[in-house]
Amino acid sequence: MPKNKEGAKDSVDYKKLKFKCGIEIHQQLSGHKLFCNCSTGMNEEKETLQIKRNLRTSASELGEKDIAAEYETRRKRDFIYHCYKGETCLVETDSEPPHNINEQALETALSVVKSLKLTIPDKLMIMRKIVVDGSACSSFQRTLVVGMESENSYIETQQGKVKLTSICLEEDACKIIRQDSKEVNYSLSRQGIPLLEIRTDPDIKNPEHARETAEKLGLILRSFDNIKRGIGTIRQDVNLSILNKSRIEIKGFQDLRSMPKIIENEVKRLMKLKTIRPEVRKANSDLTTTFMRPLPGAARMYPETDLPLIDPRPISKKLRPTELLTTKLLILEEKHHLDSSTARGIIKKKINFEEFIKKYKNLDARTIAYILVEVPKALKTRENLTPSLHQLDTVIAYLDKGVITKEAVPQVLISLSKHKKLNMNQFKKPDTKQIEQELRHLIKNQPDITANALMGILMKKYRGKIPGKELMHLIKKIRG
Ligand SMILES: [Zn+2]
Repeated sequence: MPKNKEGAKDSVDYKKLKFKCGIEIHQQLSGHKLFCNCSTGMNEEKETLQIKRNLRTSASELGEKDIAAEYETRRKRDFIYHCYKGETCLVETDSEPPHNINEQALETALSVVKSLKLTIPDKLMIMRKIVVDGSACSSFQRTLVVGMESENSYIETQQGKVKLTSICLEEDACKIIRQDSKEVNYSLSRQGIPLLEIRTDPDIKNPEHARETAEKLGLILRSFDNIKRGIGTIRQDVNLSILNKSRIEIKGFQDLRSMPKIIENEVKRLMKLKTIRPEVRKANSDLTTTFMRPLPGAARMYPETDLPLIDPRPISKKLRPTELLTTKLLILEEKHHLDSSTARGIIKKKINFEEFIKKYKNLDARTIAYILVEVPKALKTRENLTPSLHQLDTVIAYLDKGVITKEAVPQVLISLSKHKKLNMNQFKKPDTKQIEQELRHLIKNQPDITANALMGILMKKYRGKIPGKELMHLIKKIRG
């Protein structure tokens, strides 16, 4: 018999392959840009200016040229930068010195550093990092290290600890509008948006572990205020190698769910190669990767002389610890025994779950969570209804008082959502004595009737009002 798709899955032994993998998370912050007052909205409503530039590499002080820079020079492409009203000014085009650092962004960054137990340096130095692919109009990107690794700077995952090695606060790069072999069109609306960069050690053991790590860091970041949300606001780069060969960097994951498969496919591709060149590759929607450019050498940086050193102490002293969503998730999973997806649902909806637990003493946590998260999901799919938190609370109260059964919950919510008059009698749990009598009557008329047939008759009448299990129990009791 031919093996099905699942059976044919050839597994990769990541340990044997000496698979090494670390990730970098880039998270945009809200508020204004990092070194000017421009908006971070990226609405691009009114284009004000286009600037054309091209790149010429010069040898560094050490006399060597960066391979990635040379590659870009050889391509001889023009870079065209598009400016937008309210979203770009002379700072982005490097025609004016940077303003002082956005204090709110710095505060958020330090708060993340503190919560993740990295060390805040005594002095923060703003650096210029050379950018060779044109993705910064000024050919450099400002960055500052706000967190350095410490003994306790790691996150716990199901497959062990993943060490966090550094956190930087930096300017986001330009966004590509379109490109071909002759020119790249960049939008300056993104350049300068405050961006947090969190790096891990290569502690990641396999593709699924990479997803878990990225997901966990994303959840941690969502614990903070001033974190941008939505598509494109968080990006992951994966660095990996096998058999101690050259490092490959993959960028542009659209969706964390596809991350493991893309990594697996990349590893399988590398396994077939005799020589591996260090390069940056782009994650594609068909789960493969394609070459983007050679991997740049160690970032060339020099200090930003237009801005002073920053003393982080006045800000770090007043920071209050933030309760991380991962901690909340753990409480929901371990104290209340919710499954991971339901627990995530509670967090996503920002529900004060402890309050529900306190209020409804007759119900267990899982039932409450089920009604708050899973029932609305089903109603959305089946009926396109979105019950409000108030309506959910009303229904939970009915259930808590024993006015309705768990089975009736969806129907009651449908009635409430459609603003129909709610006739509670129609949802009341039927009297079991009455059902028993009905059963006796049915059996008397049709002595050969099967349990399944009886069940069918009862379910037709009582579906949603009494659990099927309870009905079966009654049938067994009466039939013997
Ligand atoms: Zn600006």
